[in-house]
Amino acid sequence: MKTLLIVEDNEHNMELMIQLLEDDYKLILARDGLEALDELVDKTPDLILMDLSMPRMDGWTTIREIRKGSTCPGIPIIALTAHAMHGEKERAVKAGADDFITKPIDFDRLFDTIELLIE
Ligand SMILES: [Mg+2]
Repeated sequence: MKTLLIVEDNEHNMELMIQLLEDDYKLILARDGLEALDELVDKTPDLILMDLSMPRMDGWTTIREIRKGSTCPGIPIIALTAHAMHGEKERAVKAGADDFITKPIDFDRLFDTIELLIE
C-alpha cells in the first residue's frame, strides 16, 4: 500500500480526506508545514497533499523547503488551494508543486491526480 502525507490545518478538511483515502493508502498526518518537515526526517511517503494556507509554516514555504532538502526532494506534491485565483496556483507550481487541486475538492479528480503522479 502506498503512503500519503496529508498536510492540512483545517480539522474538517483533514477528517474528510482521511475518510476518503484511508482504505486505499497508508496516511501520515501533519497539521502545518513544520510538522510535515518533522515527519519527513524519518519517513518517505510516496506523495504529499499540501494545503497552502496554514499557521506557523505555509504550504508554499514548505514545498520550497522540501524541494531544496536532502531527504526526498523529488517526491510528488499536490497543492490543495482554496484560492481560485490564477496567481495562487501559479505560485504553488513555482514553489515546486507538481499539480494543484482547488477546494472544495473534487475527489474523483484528486484520486486521478494521485494515481497519475504515484505511478
Ligand atoms: Mg489551511
